[in-house]
Amino acid sequence: MGIVKLLFRNLLKGPSTDPFPFGDTFTPKALRGRIEFDASRCTGCRMCEYVCAGGAIRFQETDAGLKFHLWHNSCAFCGLCEHYCVPGAIRMTQDWHLAHPQQEKYTMVEQGVVRRLPCEGCQVAMVPTTERLIGRAYAGSNAAIESLSRLCPDCRRQRSARQLTKGELL
Ligand code: SF4
Ligand code: SF4
Repeated sequence: MGIVKLLFRNLLKGPSTDPFPFGDTFTPKALRGRIEFDASRCTGCRMCEYVCAGGAIRFQETDAGLKFHLWHNSCAFCGLCEHYCVPGAIRMTQDWHLAHPQQEKYTMVEQGVVRRLPCEGCQVAMVPTTERLIGRAYAGSNAAIESLSRLCPDCRRQRSARQLTKGELL
C-alpha cells in the first residue's frame, strides 16, 4: 500500500491507541493496585507485616490502638498481604494511578487504627475477633462462640479448658 493511501486510511480510521492520559484506558480485571485497609475487619495478627517482602507494612502501638501504615512507595504489589489476611482487612484495588511528584511521597500511605477493647474476663486491652473472621472459622456462630470472641487469648484458653473438663461442647 502506498504511503499516501496508508496515510488517508489511518486518518479516516482514527487513533488505534487509548487516549491516556487525556482519557480512559484499559485496566485488567486481575490488576493488583493501590491497597485499601479496613481497620474494622483487622484482628491485629500482624501476619501482613510478617509476609511483606517489601517491608511496606508497619504496625505501631499507640494510645488509640494498633496503628497500621502501608507505604505504597515500598510496596511491590505482590498481593501476599491480601492473600494471608484471613478476615479480609487488606484489599488490593484496581487503582494504578499512583504516579506522584517526589514531594508527595509521604502522602502515599494507607493508614488505620485497630481499636482495642477490654477483655470481658480480665479487662486487659485486646483486639476482639471480628464477625467476618468468626464467619470464616465456623460454619455458623452461636452465643458461646460470640462470648469467646470477646475474651483475650488467655481467658479463652481457660474457659475452653473448663468446658472440656466439664464435657461441654461449644
Ligand atoms: S490486616 Fe489482616 S493480616 Fe494484617 S494484622 Fe490485620 S488481620 Fe492480620
Ligand atoms: S502487596 Fe506485597 S509488597 Fe505490597 S504491602 Fe502487600 S505484601 Fe507488602
